[in-house]
Amino acid sequence: MRFITYNTKNFRKIEYLRYLSEDVKNEIAIVSKVIPFKTNNYVVDYLIDWDNYQDDPIYILNFPNRHMLREEQYEMVRRGVEQKLAEKDLYKIINEIRMGLNPHPAQQITNIPKLNGENLKGLQHKYQDIVLFFPTQGQSCHAHCTFCFRWPQFTKELDLQFSMREIDKVIAYIREHEYIHEILFTGGDPMIMSPVTLNRYISEILDAELDNLEVIRFGTKALSYWPFTFLPAFNEEAEQMLSMFKRIVDRGIHLSIMAHFNHYVELDNEIVQEAISNIRLTGAQIRTQSPILKHINNSSEVWARMWNDQVNLGLVPYYMFVERETGPFEYFQITLQEAYQIYTDAIRSTGSLAKTLTGPVMSASNGKVQVMGIVENPLDGNKYFMMQYVRHRDYKQTYKPFFMQYDENATWVDQLNQMRVNR
Ligand code: SF4
Repeated sequence: MRFITYNTKNFRKIEYLRYLSEDVKNEIAIVSKVIPFKTNNYVVDYLIDWDNYQDDPIYILNFPNRHMLREEQYEMVRRGVEQKLAEKDLYKIINEIRMGLNPHPAQQITNIPKLNGENLKGLQHKYQDIVLFFPTQGQSCHAHCTFCFRWPQFTKELDLQFSMREIDKVIAYIREHEYIHEILFTGGDPMIMSPVTLNRYISEILDAELDNLEVIRFGTKALSYWPFTFLPAFNEEAEQMLSMFKRIVDRGIHLSIMAHFNHYVELDNEIVQEAISNIRLTGAQIRTQSPILKHINNSSEVWARMWNDQVNLGLVPYYMFVERETGPFEYFQITLQEAYQIYTDAIRSTGSLAKTLTGPVMSASNGKVQVMGIVENPLDGNKYFMMQYVRHRDYKQTYKPFFMQYDENATWVDQLNQMRVNR
């Protein structure tokens, strides 16, 4: 199967675009100047229901619409395009808007570690036992999610990317910190790299024989956006990818594919199901994660079905996230109390094997905060969110419940006040 990419420049070639009015196409062209846009022939041919595209979750996941920008932002770009501004003047406007979209939420920039005094710009070390590695060649995806929390990785005009290719420095860093047990390849999507490139990184890691390294993870949406990556019958490189997975597992390292699925429709065809089966045959495990997104999956029925389908396919539900405050988050965000309600309604409707999941969780500056409950204090009659850190920069702070004052409109932990104890 040949991979055909559609982006801001050529998306009008998509045959199904006959379903869209000229106004909608022009809006895509304008908004996609700010929000990185990319889709491909598998997504448009297999995942989107074009008869109902306005409400289709995968259409909304891939195609920008004008409501993803504030009205004044949309107008600024529209006028710039209409006036045929020189590229550098147009990008001045676009980049100003982008910088206002909180490009690096949760102070990720502070997670960059040093080796011998040098910043490792493609590594993040936030939690004691794991490092995140952003290989230079993996800083794109087979398609781009409109809500993407890593969108600066795709905006070359701004120098905001995390990335590096010097795996020797990554290895030296892991060796120096014996309490690091895991490396997560992330991006972008590391599975967009050819198996030859990825194998080079993996071979160096395996050859280094790091005693402390127990787990390798790949954060990826390839199962959803290009499952042919794992199908030798359609893609001659797939065999190499699967052999590499097997080689990692055979070395006694736990390999976990951190698969990103936002909706059950992404699991609902034989292509992805065969890809899942091929990965599992290598001995790798597949864990799943996604944020809750208005217009895409803000319904407990969607989540319950997605988790049940995942378990039936042998996947392990892992995280349900709250949408991060970056990019067009105002379009996608829901309140914490809604997220908690969706989570509880959904998890109650699943079989016990789906209850491996942790949610709803915010990836905040200090760590991953889970909303554990909404409780009423019988002494003062006030409501509170009960929360805990399931990951924290300081691991001693994890799994200690705390209370924040309830606010039905809050969408992030920073908007809440901690419960005061009156003595
Ligand atoms: S797959 Fe992940 S990194 Fe890639 S566009 Fe989607 S959210 Fe962003």
